[in-house]
Amino acid sequence: MKKNNKKLDFPVIIDTEKCKGCELCIYYCPKKCLGKSEEINKLGYTYAVLTKPEECNSCGTCYIMCPEYIITVFKFEKTPVAVGNKK
Ligand code: SF4
Ligand code: SF4
Repeated sequence: MKKNNKKLDFPVIIDTEKCKGCELCIYYCPKKCLGKSEEINKLGYTYAVLTKPEECNSCGTCYIMCPEYIITVFKFEKTPVAVGNKK
């Protein structure tokens, strides 16, 4: 399992090196899109990763539940783009 990418193409970024693997974010995610790594971080814990980014609705529950304050949640807003008009 890969670590979260730091680029902003994912709605959730986890500072995985600071994760203590408590699983609160995983347990409370209403969309079940977080999981556990197979690797261990430098603290010696398996860490939370976003396993199904396409399922995430940016609700922010994981960010609220994390006792380590290491989760950032982004919401991608759609910007309207003009296709054309007849004026
Ligand atoms: S923002 Fe909500 S849906 Fe997305 S990973 Fe966190 S808890 Fe799950
Ligand atoms: S709630 Fe925070 S510390 Fe606990 S597993 Fe999730 S990211 Fe790691």
